[in-house]
Amino acid sequence: MTESTLSQKSVLAIAVSAPVGGPYDYLAGPAMGATRGSLVMVPFGGRQLPGIVMGKAKGDLPMAKLRTVAVMVNLPRLPAPMVQFIERVSAWTMAPLGSVVKMVLSQPAAFGCPPKLKRYRLAPPPDEARLTVSRQLVLDYLGEPERRDGGDLAAGIIAASGVSQSVLGRMEAVGLLQVELVSADLLPPLPKHNLAHVVLNDDQQHAADHLRATIGQGFRVNLLDGVTGSGKTEVYFEAVEASIKAGQQVLILLPEIALSAAWRARFSARFGVPPLEWHSDILPGQKRKSWRFVLEGRASVVVGARSALFLPFSKLGLIVVDEEHEHAFKQEEQVIYQARDMAVLLGQLNKIPVVLASATPSLESWVNAGKTGMLQRYEYLSLPKRVHDAELPSIQIINLRETPPERGRWLAPPLVNAIDLRLKAGEQSLLYLNRRGYAPLTLCAACGTKLTCPNCDSWMVAHRLAGRMRCHHCGHESRPSNNCKACGSKDQMQACGPGVERLAEEVLWRFPEVRFALLSSDTVGTPKAAETFIQSVIDGEVDIIIGTQMAAKGHHFPNLTLVGVVDADLGLAGGDLRAAERTFQMLSQVAGRAGRESRPGEAMLQTLEPQNPVLASLISGDRDLFLEQEAAARLAAGMPPFGRLASVIISSPYEDRLHDTMRQLSSTHPNFDLVQILGPAIAPIGFLRGKHRARLLIRADKSVNIQYILEHWLGEIKLPSSVRMQIDIDPYSFL
Ligand code: ADP
Ligand code: ZN
Ligand code: ZN
Repeated sequence: MTESTLSQKSVLAIAVSAPVGGPYDYLAGPAMGATRGSLVMVPFGGRQLPGIVMGKAKGDLPMAKLRTVAVMVNLPRLPAPMVQFIERVSAWTMAPLGSVVKMVLSQPAAFGCPPKLKRYRLAPPPDEARLTVSRQLVLDYLGEPERRDGGDLAAGIIAASGVSQSVLGRMEAVGLLQVELVSADLLPPLPKHNLAHVVLNDDQQHAADHLRATIGQGFRVNLLDGVTGSGKTEVYFEAVEASIKAGQQVLILLPEIALSAAWRARFSARFGVPPLEWHSDILPGQKRKSWRFVLEGRASVVVGARSALFLPFSKLGLIVVDEEHEHAFKQEEQVIYQARDMAVLLGQLNKIPVVLASATPSLESWVNAGKTGMLQRYEYLSLPKRVHDAELPSIQIINLRETPPERGRWLAPPLVNAIDLRLKAGEQSLLYLNRRGYAPLTLCAACGTKLTCPNCDSWMVAHRLAGRMRCHHCGHESRPSNNCKACGSKDQMQACGPGVERLAEEVLWRFPEVRFALLSSDTVGTPKAAETFIQSVIDGEVDIIIGTQMAAKGHHFPNLTLVGVVDADLGLAGGDLRAAERTFQMLSQVAGRAGRESRPGEAMLQTLEPQNPVLASLISGDRDLFLEQEAAARLAAGMPPFGRLASVIISSPYEDRLHDTMRQLSSTHPNFDLVQILGPAIAPIGFLRGKHRARLLIRADKSVNIQYILEHWLGEIKLPSSVRMQIDIDPYSFL
């Protein structure tokens, strides 16, 4: 072998876990035997960082300049589809490779040996040892048949016998106990199959049979479209079971797993064990363990938020994306990606089935399922009926121009009457308003000055329960004051418009006797609190729930028969591409909270625009018609999913530098057929978290490689220091 091939062999291309591009070349050193997917630690800047070997380096850098891999990590390699996934996500989102690697190698603590724990077992009895009461307790416990062979960990012994750790230590010293060091990372019990479960109805059975048959049969996507309460979860559980039986791993994405206690309970009932969870509320120690179990192929089902997509699955066999239409699947920071879309990509690379489930499918999935008569890329399964014979709620409009509420109140007479009827019948009502706090705007009646955030172009929201004014964009807080800072008037500050707290005030005024409860992230801040809240509603301790979007999510409240949407027009304002779709989904979802069991439910939508097509389709109950109209409008405008869209956001604390960059962008606009560029222009929120912002939008026909255009254009732009540029492929936010 020549000198040069030898040296080429020993230089590796390594993607480093840091928000930088790459991969970078390193001398293999201890990673001599490494191949694509191997995990390493490398020196980077002044630190040592985790990295992934992407392959052999091209070898065009002088060896003398290269640094050497520090550690070859003693773990299985990342499987090939995962490494490919990292490259593809980076290429699609245009995020630096290292940023994507950082999401995958999120638990570098998992690289080391797991900590060890002592496992105690009975020793052959020594000739002489004093047996105290506590020692006898330990001996009795460890002598029980289920522990006689395997023994138990200190924690288990202490919990069962009540002795202290020091007793165990002394028993070990005098030879009463044998000790073995075991990994602290005990594998959680694996899901069981063949447990008893509900008998599926015919629609469910048909869908479940179809999904089960896809396991092990390569890549395909199924859209499972079923009205709320139609039993979708039970259906995809069948596929999950089939995949587990085949010895595969399963990933289930839920938009708000932390809040989904009911879902977890159902999983446990179905599979005999709780699922392995992955989201931001999971503690680091647990994450470290789970990450390793996933890589080693020992964890079988993971349920998680979007970040779970980047776990190092070694034998993934099925991906389920539940509530696939949820916008929570779009990550808006760092690597800006849509988890549902990336789940489909991951399925494709792993050659496995993907199930997308929803009661209100996204337009994208609807179109992909061939429902608009265009190319059918997904299979389509439908569950048209509710399981428990429950009717879908009837939906009515309350025209606020005809029957307005009194001045300074927000509930119109028909809604008040309906609540009253429910109270008399001992049934529950939900008042839905997607606005946290007391009032969205506070202004001075004397001079008209609005209270705004010093860091953002936004109003300060009154939070009376907390006694604070808060900016919902940056979190800035101030004390409420009755004096106007602009004109000095006293006692002229007025709260305008309602938030959920203000509705609570009205409910208390109208129905002094009722038990109401607020459900928003301010009042119910943790998963545990949410669980308690939901249980108290189920137990009938609440008559009226006043809630934000948190109340719209999949909760199942058997005695809730009325949903009042206080402001059905709220989501429709603004020119957002998906405003109509999002409003439709949100309103159907919140209406679906009503009448989930035997009693029929009713939803009432308060609006100033009863003619709005979104509301009209909701009332008619013709969801498909809505999707068709929406699809037609998007098609005509060449908008996603029929065209491509990307936005570029530039921001800087310095206005002049922002304008310089905007000028640079304007003067270098590329000119292509089938591509339109709008802007740059000052963003709708022109000042956010202390930074001035501008944005531009690129629309292109489906045939155009929009990433390619952006890369060549923006690659030439010289950004002044402290100007930041962010690319958002297929944006959901237009602020
Ligand atoms: P979806 O996800 O479509 O809203 P779920 O899967 O949550 O519906 O099911 C709604 C409720 O009906 C759940 O309590 C579930 O346990 C129950 N359920 C589902 N399928 C059946 C069935 N075939 N027989 C009895 N109960 C069922
Ligand atoms: Zn004033
Ligand atoms: Zn702010």
